[in-house]
Amino acid sequence: MTASAIPISFLPSVEFDAQLIRKLNQVGPRYTSYPTADRFTADFGYRDYLQAVTGARARSNTHPLSLYIHIPFCESICYYCGCNKIVTKDRSKAVTYLSYLKREIEMQGRLLVGANQIEQLHFGGGTPTYLSDAQMEDLMTHLRRWFSFASDANGEYSIEVDPRTVTRERVHALRRQGFNRISLGVQDFDPDVQIAVNRIQPESETLEVISAAREAQFRSISIDLIYGLPKQNVITMNQTLTKVIAANPDRISIYNYAHLPHIFKPQRRIAEADLPDADTKLDMLALCIKRLTEAGYIYIGMDHFAKPTDDLAIAQRQGRLHRNFQGYSTHVGADLVSCGVSAISAVGATYSQNVKTLDEYYEQIEQNELPIARGIKLTMDDLLRRIIIQMLMCNFELSVASIELAYPISFKTYFAAELEKLRGLEQDGLLTIDDEWISVTLKGRLLIRNICMVFDRYLNAAADVPHTTGAAEARPLRHSKTI
Ligand code: SF4
Repeated sequence: MTASAIPISFLPSVEFDAQLIRKLNQVGPRYTSYPTADRFTADFGYRDYLQAVTGARARSNTHPLSLYIHIPFCESICYYCGCNKIVTKDRSKAVTYLSYLKREIEMQGRLLVGANQIEQLHFGGGTPTYLSDAQMEDLMTHLRRWFSFASDANGEYSIEVDPRTVTRERVHALRRQGFNRISLGVQDFDPDVQIAVNRIQPESETLEVISAAREAQFRSISIDLIYGLPKQNVITMNQTLTKVIAANPDRISIYNYAHLPHIFKPQRRIAEADLPDADTKLDMLALCIKRLTEAGYIYIGMDHFAKPTDDLAIAQRQGRLHRNFQGYSTHVGADLVSCGVSAISAVGATYSQNVKTLDEYYEQIEQNELPIARGIKLTMDDLLRRIIIQMLMCNFELSVASIELAYPISFKTYFAAELEKLRGLEQDGLLTIDDEWISVTLKGRLLIRNICMVFDRYLNAAADVPHTTGAAEARPLRHSKTI
């Protein structure tokens, strides 16, 4: 059989090398943005955002946007959680929140009138399905009033669903409301693990939601898992993987649990003695990669696997994959407008983040201002490094010529220090470098963050500055280990 005749699902997309991971595993960002969110500052505010929108509109009024809506509420706490959420059973809180969220959506809609084509919508949280069916219907109607959505066939409209919060009928309602992709939080099917993380979610409940999503003709079903949770081991993970593979989702994400109880309070309720050790975690990761690739899933990068027929895998093959705050996306370069508490927008050469508490959120909207708390204007150097990190994360290769064509630099001179560091990683077998390409090897793909970190100017500056200076660039990182 010639290489071109080999079905895509049988071409290796990643190689697990335990020794290499042990040697190079380190704390690092996930690069859903560059610069990373911990570099945003309060110097950036509402007026800067307005300027960014004006600039983006001057460049193009016809470029479609991505829209993110954040619903922060959850009914109960999962102990592993590191998200910005509000756990409450008091439903009136959502009523108040929605009234302000709708005002923010209207403000953004007015700003973007005439340039408000949406091709990508994502609802995240918290738990978006904390909202009732009627509240969701009302919110979607409101969004359609202020934004113009591409047809179902041309748009990617996704929602994160906690299977514990929906019925079969609710899944059908979400489809009717316009969602065509669904992402289900599962984490682990094992009952002991579920107890240890306070997330009791019977397998039958999850399978029922998957079956309803198929029946309702969602275009893509995605499942989120976590490895490294308390009470997990290779045996439990194997059992969970068997069930997940049998459920046959289009995408599977497997996140590494980062135990950072000093930052995330709920994690203090996890008994450290129940956590798998580093070797077990590595074994679990190896098992995930083996089982999923043998089942025909392609490794997209950074925890994500997809069927070869899924849009993400197709976009990656065609070099159109993009990375944003929601992970990988097929909508290259679209400006991202985000609404809701703590939500992050990316418009033109800026990032901006909303305030993080409900009180601040309500207060700022009462003043008829978008509730922006902080952000950053990207310099030319940031933009250059952002595109490099994007290319490496999404395509696992970088064309030196394409960078030199887009930016007035000699790559070799501008990145002389970075190339020297990359040579070290080349010797470790993570990548190959020649005059035209930097190409990540199959075993380098799992350590892609290490490679991207070489191009992160802020991280490298922080490494050079003693922490005692209090300099902005020397702030301690909130990132997890790369594996
Ligand atoms: S993991 Fe999800 S459902 Fe659980 S507390 Fe966090 S945001 Fe809420």
